[in-house]
Amino acid sequence: MTITRFAPSPTGELHLGHAHSALFAFAEARAAGGRFLLRIEDIDRTRCRPEFTQAIFSDLAWLGLEWERPVRIQSEHFDDYRAALDRLEGMGLLYPCFCTRQDIAREVEGAGHAPHGPDGPLYPGHCRHLSPAERGERRAAGQPFALRLHTEEAMRRTGPLAWRDRTRGEQSARPDLFGDVVLARKDTPASYHLAVTVDDALQGVTLVTRGEDLFAATHVHRLLQALLDLPVPDYVHHRLLTDEHGRRYAKRDRSLTLRALREAGRTPDEVRMLAGFAEETIP
Ligand code: GLU
Ligand code: ZN
Repeated sequence: MTITRFAPSPTGELHLGHAHSALFAFAEARAAGGRFLLRIEDIDRTRCRPEFTQAIFSDLAWLGLEWERPVRIQSEHFDDYRAALDRLEGMGLLYPCFCTRQDIAREVEGAGHAPHGPDGPLYPGHCRHLSPAERGERRAAGQPFALRLHTEEAMRRTGPLAWRDRTRGEQSARPDLFGDVVLARKDTPASYHLAVTVDDALQGVTLVTRGEDLFAATHVHRLLQALLDLPVPDYVHHRLLTDEHGRRYAKRDRSLTLRALREAGRTPDEVRMLAGFAEETIP
């Protein structure tokens, strides 16, 4: 049984790029006679707003999508992410990182040419080398910290890993490209990487469909799946829609939010078309 999902973050109104992504997941499920889920990725409480969650529901319903209830809302499931973190911590694969963004920037600059990953310069690893005593002292003193994955050690334990992208074929997992990723912060108790991996497994998602911009992130997710004994779904990373200037849709394109198009009198059929889904592709 194919199970797909659309997993937006309620940080703004949905635009045509989101519509493409939602329709893509929906069409894959329909074509396979499978199930389509919706998940609200609202872990980052500083950026997410409940009114945008409501707007997502109404925009997607207006577009003609149907999804299963209840919808998984990430902010209601912090216990699940905590359990995954505890498990990784128990395996000795997490360490507290007390560096501020400035500390990291300074260290990267001082190093001359620091290796870069898909999300920017790699964490230089300063806190990986703190002594247990120093960690204890800083924690006791209430210094805020993030939890980072000791990626190299984790990869050593799992051995080589692979995952399947339905478009690009078999991929060797390269989580090392990201270095020691942050899995939790003081104000964000689970990172995107952790929450998405745990949730796709808990929801039984068998085919993860999402934009090409998240292709590389899958390397990290594959490592987390291996460490946490989670099933490995198939992946498709779809193209990103662009406007007439070849730019990706983003929040700045207010005129192309689904809300604005709908208020301007466009029909759901027209908007599906603009989002790259001709009528006959949605059964
Ligand atoms: N919530 C993520 C976003 O809005 C997408 C997560 C995913 O599909 O893996 O970009
Ligand atoms: Zn650090």
